[in-house]
This record gives sequence, structure tokens and C-alpha cells, in this order.
Amino acid sequence: MDTLNITNGDIILEFIYLLSALFFVWGLKLLSSPDSARRGNMWAGAGMLLAMIATIVLHCDSSGDPIKGANIAIILGAIAFGGIIGGLIARRIKMTAMPQLVSFFNATGGAASALVALIEFSNPENQSGLVTLLGLVIGSIAFSGSMIAYGKLNGNVKDIFTKWMTYINLVILAGLVFLLLFILFGNAPEETRQILVYVLLAGSLVYGVSFVMPIGGADMPVVISLLNSFTGIAAAMAGFIYQNQAMILGGIFVGAAGMILTLLMCKAMNRSLINVIIGAFGGGGAGVDREKGIVKEVSATDAAVMLNYSSRVVIVPGYGLAVAQAQHICSEMDELLESNGVEVKYAIHPVAGRMPGHMNVLLAEADVPYEKLVEMDEINPDMPKTDVVVVIGANDVVNPAALDDPSSPIYGMPIINVQEAKNVIVMKRGMGKGYAAIENYLFYADNTRMFFGSAKDSLQKLVTEIKAL
Ligand code: NDP
Repeated sequence: MDTLNITNGDIILEFIYLLSALFFVWGLKLLSSPDSARRGNMWAGAGMLLAMIATIVLHCDSSGDPIKGANIAIILGAIAFGGIIGGLIARRIKMTAMPQLVSFFNATGGAASALVALIEFSNPENQSGLVTLLGLVIGSIAFSGSMIAYGKLNGNVKDIFTKWMTYINLVILAGLVFLLLFILFGNAPEETRQILVYVLLAGSLVYGVSFVMPIGGADMPVVISLLNSFTGIAAAMAGFIYQNQAMILGGIFVGAAGMILTLLMCKAMNRSLINVIIGAFGGGGAGVDREKGIVKEVSATDAAVMLNYSSRVVIVPGYGLAVAQAQHICSEMDELLESNGVEVKYAIHPVAGRMPGHMNVLLAEADVPYEKLVEMDEINPDMPKTDVVVVIGANDVVNPAALDDPSSPIYGMPIINVQEAKNVIVMKRGMGKGYAAIENYLFYADNTRMFFGSAKDSLQKLVTEIKAL
């Protein structure tokens, strides 16, 4: 009778895992549009909650015993501890620090999977040695790499680029592969294998650091999405160890989504994936020094006149728009111009801001209709017939050095070709550089006018002036 109950419990549990997976898929589907993204997050979260509750209530070990009361208390305590800390951080974090938070959460996911693998390697019942060690390596790289990414996004960690870094990374990677194979097939005594697993853990942590450290500023989006994918793959490996369908499916979804995003980012940056994995690309160099020319400023009144009497205006949002939290006033200016007969579009660069989709999320928050956001490839051909481009807090994504300076670290990255528009107004606080820390000669071009000030104040002034016209 007992056996029958356990079997029934197992079947119900597997069925609930399948249901959770459907919740994840539906959540992912809704996440594909800003309008439904919030609901998508709720559905995916509900799927995870369902899988967790079902596991606690229905899971049985290999002897058919349910989870012990004491262990349930530990699990619930850990969930409460992690939930409260995570909830507090997420509530208090400033919107501008969101990219760092995403990297930090990604790091914790990698660490959790690596710890599962570390503990389960010494479990005699665990038959999946290769998967366990792969989970350990990938999870550790995701953890230490994401912590370095966190530091870089927060401005605490600077790029370290030497031409030797590529070779150092290759040597560490080869060492990790050798060690992993030796642990599995080397016939070493059990105690030695247990020690070597810790060496593998340490080596993987070092590799995570050495692989992210040299990535040049503008190339960070590629590595961030790759680390995201690593965390998903490591979680799927942990799922294999426990034969837990929900973990396997959830991990594969994250891993696959992260990999697709990585490929999209590679395409956006015009880089190859192999360069990312070996590391040490895109760093170093500052571009050639050229004649700078004169910076020409524009007053709020003149800028308002230029915009209001244009037929076609394109807004290029960048990281500075997020810093200034100027999305709402930007949307107000857009509506005002449209009501005065000006066609307004937004040009979205795939790596603008500090996280994939940053500008889409920001503008969706201000209820800018999705149809007004135009991808870089689609809007670039229209630049020459655009009367005024307004660059708001963007820098690297409109830097023409990417097109014409082979010595620049961003050379080869496609940009929004604002320099081809009839007039360009750049809104920023001063002559500060962008994330890649290189000079932008767009600011000195004949058709560029600088409008200095924090984006929110500058846009407010423009709105007031346009209303007064
Ligand atoms: P950048 O970081 O190149 O430039 C932002 C500009 O905003 C700065 O030059 C700054 O100039 C200005 N700024 C800052 N605060 C304000 C403010 N309050 N008001 C007005 N302007 C302000 O931004 P982009 O969006 O052009 O490029 C993104 C960069 O970040 C790329 O290099 C990308 O590769 C990188 N990156 C992107 C990630 C992603 O996933 N999207 C992840 C990691 C990195 P000033 O100080 O003079 O005001």
C-alpha cells in the first residue's frame, strides 16, 4: 500500500513539475512584450512557487521516505531568510542600479548550483560524476564572473587588459579540462579526488575572474548575457544530479534564453562568440587623437524652435536618460511635438544603457507606445532624411569612431548613425565620456549642438519652451 502511495505521489509530483514548466513557458511568452512583461514575471514566479511547494510536500528519497520535519524547517527557514533579504534589496534598489542587481542575482544562482554540485560529488548515491563536475565548473565561473561584472557595472572594478590575458585564459581553461578528466578517469584514491574537486572549484573561480576582467567596456553586454546563460546551464546540471524535472527545465529555459541573447548581443556588437569565451577582447586602446574642433552649444529656446518646426525627429535614448530618470518628461515632450504635427520616433540600440532591453523597459515605464521604438538597423537608413536627432544621455552607441577608427576599442560595433541626420542635439551634463571611456568626436561635428545639463532639467526646459511657442 505504502509503495502504491509513494508511486502515486511521484506521479503527481512529476505532473506538477510539468505544470510548472508550462507556467515558465507562458511567462516567457508574456515577457516578450513590455505590456505583458509584468504578468509574465508573475506567471514564471508562480510556476517556481508551485514546484517548490510540491517538492517539499511530495518529494521522497530513494527509500521512499518524505522530507523529514527538521529538514523542512531548515528549508522554510532558508526560503524565509533568502526571500526577506532578496525582497528588501529589490524594493530599496534604485532603478539605476538595476543592472548591477541583475548581475548579483545571477551570481547567487551560479553559486547555488556550484554548491549543490560540490556537496553531491561526495554523495555515494550520485552516479552522474561528469554532470556534477560540469555543474561545479560552470556554476563557479558564473558566480565569480558575475561578481566581477557587478563590480564593473558599479564602477568599482576597472578593465585589466594585457595581450597575455588571452593566453593565460586558454591555459587556465585547458588546466580545468585536464583536472576534470583526471578526477573522473584518473584512478586517483578517493581522498585525492575529494581534494582535487576543491582545486577544480578554485580554478573555476579564478577563470571566472580572469575571463571577465579584460572585457573592454562596450563589450560587457555580451559577457553579461553569456554569464546569464551559464547560470541556467549550471542549474540544469544540478537538476540532472537530483533528477528533478522542474530544475532541468527551468535551467534549460534560462540557459537557452541567455544563449540566444548572447548571440543577438554578439551580432549587435559585431563580435564572434569564440572571442568572448577565450576573453580578452575589445579591451585596450583609446582610439586616435584627432583635431577636436569647436563645441557649439544651443539654448533651450533655439532647440525648442528647431524641434517644433521639424517634420521628423528621432530621439536616441542612452544610459544618461536612465540615470536622470527623465523618461516621463521625455514622453511628455514627444506627445507635445506629435500634437504639433512632428513625427517622433525612438532609435533603440541593442546595447544602450546597462542591461539588455534597458531602454525598452525605461520607455515602457513612461507609456511610450511600443510601435514608436525602432531598432537600429531599421532606423539607420532614414537618418539622412531626419531633421533633428535628439541624443539623450547616449554616448558610445552614437560614437562614429566605431565606423572610422580601426584603433578604437569599439571599432566594428554598429552604431546609430546620427551623424548623418540634418541636425543633432546632444543632451548631457558635460563632456563626460561613455562606458567605453573614449572620446566622441560627434560632439564637435558641424551639425551637432550640445545642450548641457541633467537630462530631466533640460527636457523640462524644452517642454516649457515648446509650450510657449
Ligand atoms: P554611455 O554609457 O556610453 O554614455 C552615457 C552618457 O550619459 C555619458 O556620456 C554621460 O555624460 C551621460 N549622462 C550621465 N548622466 C546623465 C544625466 N543625468 N543627464 C544627461 N546625461 C547624462 O551610454 P550608452 O547608452 O550610449 O552606451 C551604453 C554603454 O554601456 C555601451 O558601451 C555598452 O556596451 C555598455 N554596456 C551595456 C550593457 C547592456 O547590456 N546594455 C551592459 C554593460 C555595459 P555626462 O557625464 O557628460 O553627462
